[in-house]
Parts: sequence; C-alpha cells; structure tokens
Amino acid sequence: MSLVERLNEGPVICAEGYLFAMERRGYLQAGAYVPEVVLEHPEVVSQLHREFIRCGSDVVEAFTYYGHREKLRLIGKEDLLESLQTNALKIAKDAASEFPELKLMVAGNVANTNIYEPNNKKSHIDCHKMFEEQIGWAKDAGVDFVIAETIQWIGEAKIALKCIKEAGLTAVVNLAIPKGDTTREGHTPGDACKMLEDNGADVVGLNCYRGPAMTKKLLPEIRDKVSCHVAALPVPYRTTEEYPTHMYIKDDRCDCIDGNVSHIALDGLTCTRYEMGNFAKECAEMNVNFIGICCGAEPHHVREMAVSLGRKPIAYKYYPDMTKHFAYGTDKSLKDINKAEIHLK
Ligand SMILES: [Zn+2]
Repeated sequence: MSLVERLNEGPVICAEGYLFAMERRGYLQAGAYVPEVVLEHPEVVSQLHREFIRCGSDVVEAFTYYGHREKLRLIGKEDLLESLQTNALKIAKDAASEFPELKLMVAGNVANTNIYEPNNKKSHIDCHKMFEEQIGWAKDAGVDFVIAETIQWIGEAKIALKCIKEAGLTAVVNLAIPKGDTTREGHTPGDACKMLEDNGADVVGLNCYRGPAMTKKLLPEIRDKVSCHVAALPVPYRTTEEYPTHMYIKDDRCDCIDGNVSHIALDGLTCTRYEMGNFAKECAEMNVNFIGICCGAEPHHVREMAVSLGRKPIAYKYYPDMTKHFAYGTDKSLKDINKAEIHLK
C-alpha cells in the first residue's frame, strides 16, 4: 500500500530527530552536525530505529539528514558522501526488515542544503545536483517515499520536490518556518504548501524548529488551503510566541551559553510524553495525518503519540502502570507506610 493510501485510512506516525539523539548519546558532534555515526557506529543508529519502531513509528527514516555534500565539504570529507548515504539507507532497510509483522515504510530524506540563495541561479543548479544524487541513492535502495524537510525557502523546497518527482517517487515536503510565521520569501505556510501541492507534492507540511504549540498554530491555514495530506513534525520543546523556534530560544533557568540555549541546552524546555501525545491527537482531529516528531525526540514521546492515536505498539508492554508504584500505587498489597501522601507531601 502506498503512503497516500495509508494516509487515506488514517494517521501515519513518523519518528525523526536522529541528529540530536546521536549528539546527546555521544556519537555526533554538535556544530557541524554530520552523521558520520552511520559509518562509525551503525549499531547505535540501528538501535534507535528499533526503539522508534517498537514505540509505534510506522516510518523508518534513513538517517541521511545532513550527510549531504555541503556538510561533508565543511568537515573535509566529501569522499565519504556515497558510503555515508548508502549505509544510512541500508541501516534503515535492515531495521525495518527485523519487524516483518509490522507494515513499516522506509523513507529517504533530503534537507536544507545551506547553499540555496534565492537570486543566485548557480546555487539552484548546485542544490538540484545535491538533491538529485541523494534521491538517486534512495531510489536505488528501494525506499517507499522521500521526505524533503527542514527547508525555509519555498524556492529550495520546489527544487527538492522536482528532483523527487523526476525520480518517480512519492514526495513529502516539509517546511521549517522561522520567526515571523512565513517562509524566508515571505509566503504564509498555507500559501507555500499550496504551491508545493500544485507542483506535485503528495504530502505537505511542517517539521522542526517549532514546538507543538507553535506548530499547531500554523496548521489550520495549511489544512484549509491544500487538499492533499498534511504533515506535522514539531520539535518536542516548549517554544513560545516570544521564541517560536528552538533557534535563539532562552531558558530563564539556564545562563550556560549567554542565555541562548539553542540546540545543546534545550533540556529544560523539553515537552513531556503527554504533551506530545496530545499534539498527535489534535493533529488527527484536524485531519493532519502524517504525524511525527523532530529534533529532541525520544522513544517515550513516540509511544505516547501512538497510544493517544489508539494504538498499542510493541513497547506498550511496558506502558506505565502506576498502580504498582511503592509510594503512589493503589495496589492493595502495597504498604501504607510508604504512601506518598504520608511521607512525600
Ligand atoms: Zn528537527
């Protein structure tokens, strides 16, 4: 069944956020953010795929994010490009094949190239080449669809979309909307997504930058303006009207890096599993069916999103049951002397 057919039947969950997750675990350097981990420690990437699958992700997204030519140029390792891309795709395919009983889909990925300039034609040609080579490897690996994501420019998103369609693949195109609530060119998210739909995108929407509240705020306009399926994959951080994105956000309780906690000290702003579960439910209620989570994601977020959509993923086996907790539990066999209201209030 194709992605669009799956979405016609209801929500599809897509766990992302591999880059931040690998950085927190000590396998990837913040700053350049290049996923060399897919070559150096593939087993760690496989394990995170497994955890997301066990918690209910329907999509296994190959961790090719930021493994593109421009990022590899930045660290002087362009020679690793093809092996990094093909390894990431193989790791994702192999992880999916470990769960034959689940109807998992494997997605390729392209993202912000960081070289796009709206008035520089040469940069458009270079972007096209970068997307084309990545999508070629994804196609060779037999992915079910390709996600183009975290793109702020509608012009750049259109190039990515064109490359996916030229390869004959299903395209999910997700924009990252900065402060100001428009693309970098000044289009509203709804107008930008409509342009992508008109250019042949199968699914359009938003990912990254914004937490659940600031993402949700932009969804009704998109839902109104397009007729295709809509995607929403926020970061699990409590971004606000003042700081709508995790870029340049401040945390009053942390002055560790000049008050700006963006990227590497966001911990104190992390959403709970329940906030992410509510977000998933609200998306489904507004007919936003490609539902996921981006940078900052951990498997417990994904499980709660799945449960809030009425599912019991594999890891539901260990879903919280606080009735047996020594201090809060209601199980009759627990001793009253330990009750929280007696000694913890
Ligand atoms: Zn992200």
